[in-house]
Formats: sequence, C-alpha cells, structure tokens
Amino acid sequence: MADNISEGKRRVVVLGTGGTIAGRAATAADNVGYIAGQVGVTELLEGVAAPTGIALQAEQVAQVDSKDMSFAIWRRLAERCAHWLAHADVAGLVVTHGTDTLEETAFFLQSVLAPVKPIVLTSAMRPATALTPDGPQNVRDALAVASSPHAQGVVVVCAGAVHSAFDVQKVHTYRLDAFDSGDAGPVAYVEEGALRELRRWPVSPPEPARLCFELMRHAVQWPRVEILMSHAEARGSIIDALMAQQAGTAEPVQGLVLAATGNGTLHEALEAAALRAQAAGIAVLRATRCVQGRILPTPSAALRDAGALTPVKARIALMLELMSIQAGGA
Ligand code: ASP
Repeated sequence: MADNISEGKRRVVVLGTGGTIAGRAATAADNVGYIAGQVGVTELLEGVAAPTGIALQAEQVAQVDSKDMSFAIWRRLAERCAHWLAHADVAGLVVTHGTDTLEETAFFLQSVLAPVKPIVLTSAMRPATALTPDGPQNVRDALAVASSPHAQGVVVVCAGAVHSAFDVQKVHTYRLDAFDSGDAGPVAYVEEGALRELRRWPVSPPEPARLCFELMRHAVQWPRVEILMSHAEARGSIIDALMAQQAGTAEPVQGLVLAATGNGTLHEALEAAALRAQAAGIAVLRATRCVQGRILPTPSAALRDAGALTPVKARIALMLELMSIQAGGA
C-alpha cells in the first residue's frame, strides 16, 4: 500500500522516525516495557486506509527513541520534508515520531521550513504490539489533516486533537491524550476523518525560515545552548563552572536558556551568574517553567525573555538566532 503512486492522485508522504508508535513489547499487555523505534514506517501504514483520492508513500528517515533525538536527524528530516513539499502533487506530509521530543521537532521544523502545506507529526503512547494500540487511529487522523486543503504549517495530531507547533506540549506521562496547547487551545479536532476547525492554522514568515534552513544545513557544529532551571536555593555555580571550562572545550557554551519561575523571575544567585555570563558574551534567554501563560515583559529586565516559548522551544529559537548572528545575518 505504501508507494502506491497512482496517476491523478495527490500524494501524502509519510516519514518514519521511530518512537513508541513503532515500538515492540514482549507481550501485548505491556504498555510501558517496550523498545521504541522497531517497526518500519511501511508496516505502520498497513491496514490504515488512505483518504479518498490520496496515494500514500512511505520513507524511513530514522528509527530512534525520540528521547535520543539528535541534530543530525533533525537536519535530515528537514531536508526530506523540504524535498517532498516541493513536489506539486504532494498535498502534505505525515511524520511518525516519539512523544518525548515531539514538540521540539515540531517547533524546529516550523522554524526552518515555515511550510504552507501541512507537516503533521503524530505519535502514540502505546507500542504497536499493544492490545489496543493508539498509533493506527493517530496515523489515520494525521493522514486526514495532511490531505486537507485547509491545513497549513507544522501541527501535531494526537488523540483526535490538532495542536500547533508553537503551542503544543507533552503534558502527561501515560494518558493517550498526552498533548495540550495551553491557553491557545487546539487548532482543530479530527472526527471520523473530518476536520472541525477551531482557529487559524499556524503560520510564520517564510524568509527567516529559509535563512535558518540554509544555516542549519551547512553548519559544521550547531551552537551549544544549555537549559538551566531556577528553583528554591538555586546556585550560580553551574553557570560559573560552564564559564570556567569554556577555553578548554571543543564545544563552548554559546547560549543559556533559564527555565524561570512565574513571569520570568530568577533566583538572585542564578540571575547574578547569568548576568556575569551575559557580560562575557553568552546569549541568555529567560523562558517560563510554567506550563501555561507567557512572560509579560518588564522594562527593567536585564535579561531577554522568550515570551510564550517553553524552555525547550526557546533553546531551539536561540540556537537558530546564534547561527544567524554567526553568519552575519542578524
Ligand atoms: N520514549 C518514546 C519516544 O519518545 C516515548 C513515546 O514515543 O511515547 O520515542
């Protein structure tokens, strides 16, 4: 059924990257003791009907547990997405992916591709071998979104909800409905293959994305950006230790994202160390560790904030910004 390119049909290309959706456990009763990234993407599509008028094509881009996601896989995935999106008969793409870093990959792809056509990431909380796996329904829903003429941009489809790459977060360790869009809410629901749209599809301007795409493709080494959390009795010593080893390391830290409390506040010890790092040339960004809301700017803030971006997404934004600065583009 994969690779059935039929004349006159539009295509949806399904790119496999691994995850629990492609996971295998020793017994059907085991929903947690499985190995992720075992079943090929062609096999995942067996038994899932293509939407009417759509031909499916499958490509295995990677086969990993997404907790181990790497820049090399992100680069290859973005390149394959760009390749397929350029085909006029390709309506959209589906990417099968683990849930753990799904929101990071979604935000990364939106940042470097800003696609007009839909790129739909989907996943599963139960392995393919489960008694009642959730993967096949998620793939079916993702195909419905990827082939819809209304859908745009990078979205995540899970448990019948469509989340934008900007807003989506994994919020549950076990429930099938593991993703949430916070204050923004989902973009749409998928009901029996039909979309019920709730708000505008996520878009971002094409030009910074095009530059970021070229920069990340050709960068020999992506900028190292670390995330540190502010909490009770936080210390500045981790930042000071990172700064102290800068000269002797092949991969010096170029950016810090501080997972800040509430409206972007930091423990005074961490803030003092972050200001020292910033004065020494390290890019520092505050992102809130709250799961909802955004940082409202305060005029006196000495460290920039990441607005509504979560710490993991702020890290991607800062990496791409640093690539751009180093290339003389900003
Ligand atoms: N560890 C798995 C992964 O992210 C979890 C999952 O897919 O649900 O690949």
